[in-house]
Amino acid sequence: MLSRRELLVTAVAAALHGRVTSAQPGKYDLLIRGGRVIDPSARLDAVRDIGIAAGRITAVGVHLVGDAANVVDARGKLVIPGLIDIHTHCARAADGPRMALEDGVTGWIDAGSQGADKIAEPIAIARSAPQQARVLINIGREGILPDGDTMDLARADVAAAKDAIARNRDMIVGVKARLSREVAGTNDLEVLRRSQDVASAFGLPVMIHMGQTMSPIPALFDLLKRGDVVTHMFAPPPNAIVDDDGRILPAVLAARRRGVIFDVGNGQTRHMRWDTIAAIMKAGFWPDTFSTDWTANSRETGVIDLPNCMSKLLGYDMSVPEAIARATLNPSRVFPVFKDRGTLKVGAPGDVAILELREGTFEFLDNYKGTITGKQRFFPAATILGGVLTQRKA
Ligand SMILES: [Zn+2]
Repeated sequence: MLSRRELLVTAVAAALHGRVTSAQPGKYDLLIRGGRVIDPSARLDAVRDIGIAAGRITAVGVHLVGDAANVVDARGKLVIPGLIDIHTHCARAADGPRMALEDGVTGWIDAGSQGADKIAEPIAIARSAPQQARVLINIGREGILPDGDTMDLARADVAAAKDAIARNRDMIVGVKARLSREVAGTNDLEVLRRSQDVASAFGLPVMIHMGQTMSPIPALFDLLKRGDVVTHMFAPPPNAIVDDDGRILPAVLAARRRGVIFDVGNGQTRHMRWDTIAAIMKAGFWPDTFSTDWTANSRETGVIDLPNCMSKLLGYDMSVPEAIARATLNPSRVFPVFKDRGTLKVGAPGDVAILELREGTFEFLDNYKGTITGKQRFFPAATILGGVLTQRKA
């Protein structure tokens, strides 16, 4: 027989059981030792250990002691929240999610690879991805087409897009509108209006692919609402966000003030050129988020991986923590699916990227074969997803 006191202790222990065991210091599934932990969500930049148990971060400390099933030696490396890439085409390749995971990416958005007709294809890949993954539906019902998604305006089919979203509310988190002249031609404004019609019916954002549009920036940007995303923000003229005198257009400043997100969208074609980047950075109009516009061949292009894309602005006065915030904390606020991510705070999912910050001479490419030389570059070393370690294959 238990005494009254013993009974009480047992009851309290039972009531606290889940919390006590998961928060108990000294019991970890994975312990990341001695890295330079940079967590913009906590304004932390210091050498720390991180403990993970049951898939969540349970401790961040100077020197954690106790039992750990696995230990990762991160001395000399950066330990940061798992990267979130809001403009990829990971769902165009069966192997895409795994390749992105090796790059440190623990959450991604496929930005409009497909439209209503074949939306089941990227959704299937996003669903089976190891990471948190969602898709944007291309307003062009046939998705990305070599001769332009919405050159034929009939392809910007509002009813088809709405129907596809209604059937896939859990996986479609926004609408993608590609507006360049070779994609939408003179239809750009009407394509954007239709995209907003679709998105607003579900309270979703629109992501526009800007750059070399037929319509001028003010006409397009005035149609953007809070939470919408402008990708390819560094696209050179015609219709860049900066004028020939280096001034950011008033319509662009107004869009940021009302909560429109500005994203890099590195990519491989006309989306970035160093002189335009220099002018925009000099004007102090920095991106909110880095993204790769990733495809399966990215490692053989100027993209390489998200850490490489993050390195490109270090030479424009962006600090290492500021670059990291734009691939972790900031993108976690753009799509609700990531709202508990982009942080290493206790209780958050155990998603961690381990990077090397190498010093040396590194060449970075824009999309016009232009190069700049930098002194630092981030390299992916290992990824931890929900407390499970993936080593980067060389
Ligand atoms: Zn893209």
